[in-house]
Amino acid sequence: MVRVTLTGPELEGFTVEQPAASVRVLLPGDGAHELVMPVWNGNEFLLPDGRRPTIRTFTPRRVDAETGELDVEIVLHDDGAASRWARAAAPGSAAAVSGPGRGYAIDRSAPAFLLAGDETAIPAISQLLEVLPEDRPVHVCIEVARPDARCALPGHPRARLEWHDLAAGRAAGDALFAAVRDADIPAGCRIWVAGEAAAVQRIRRHLFDERGIPRAQATVRGYWKHGRAGDAGDGT
Ligand SMILES: Cc1cc2nc3c(=O)[nH]c(=O)nc-3n(C[C@H](O)[C@H](O)[C@H](O)COP(=O)(O)OP(=O)(O)OC[C@H]3O[C@@H](n4cnc5c(N)ncnc54)[C@H](O)[C@@H]3O)c2cc1C
Repeated sequence: MVRVTLTGPELEGFTVEQPAASVRVLLPGDGAHELVMPVWNGNEFLLPDGRRPTIRTFTPRRVDAETGELDVEIVLHDDGAASRWARAAAPGSAAAVSGPGRGYAIDRSAPAFLLAGDETAIPAISQLLEVLPEDRPVHVCIEVARPDARCALPGHPRARLEWHDLAAGRAAGDALFAAVRDADIPAGCRIWVAGEAAAVQRIRRHLFDERGIPRAQATVRGYWKHGRAGDAGDGT
């Protein structure tokens, strides 16, 4: 994971009210350095030459409205425009930002919280740990594809953090699914889950259909989709 600080006068005054929100980041196309702004054609944003712009979604990890700085933390994986851009990004690299998109509304009356996600969810989980009520237990399950993806997370007095390694050759989200399936979820617990789209769909079915957890108690978001570039496109 690489932390990238975006800055520019346009970000002055930019604020994000909720944790686990999102921003959309426009990147130069592969191999290009110049940023070309897309144009709305009434249906979608397209580049002047008709190609789709490279836009990816990230968690606004740190926002400083005074200095006009926005940090995003980008997972480096085998393939992907954002991953490649983050590897090569240097001061002066161009990007554009839109947002923020809605984040997570914390129910401060909840008796407990379960946070579960893969590496792409670490920025959002970190933000949640910073703001969840300190006197409530928080069970955190994070799946990592590589052991060195483990990192320090913000402290929370009642957090119990578990790292789950994804075994070689297994589908993304398998270890996360097993972790949620095996988790002790107390009555009334509020659940936040994000990760690979098919995996979180399995988790959604497990929570709602097998455990009978009321839908209002769980937020389950597809953050990326195996084999597909860009948004998970699962409508979450
Ligand atoms: C609300 C929201 C918040 C998000 N926050 C973050 C964040 O803070 N940090 C972050 O890194 N991501 C975050 N994501 C996920 C991120 O948008 C996707 O992972 C995105 O696809 C990465 O773009 P890319 O150009 O690197 O790969 P793409 O070009 O989109 O995908 C290329 C290929 O790589 C695969 N792929 C994409 N992402 C991953 C991955 N993480 N691991 C393995 N394979 C992958 C795709 O399935 C595809 O086959 C968030 C998504 C949402 C919806």
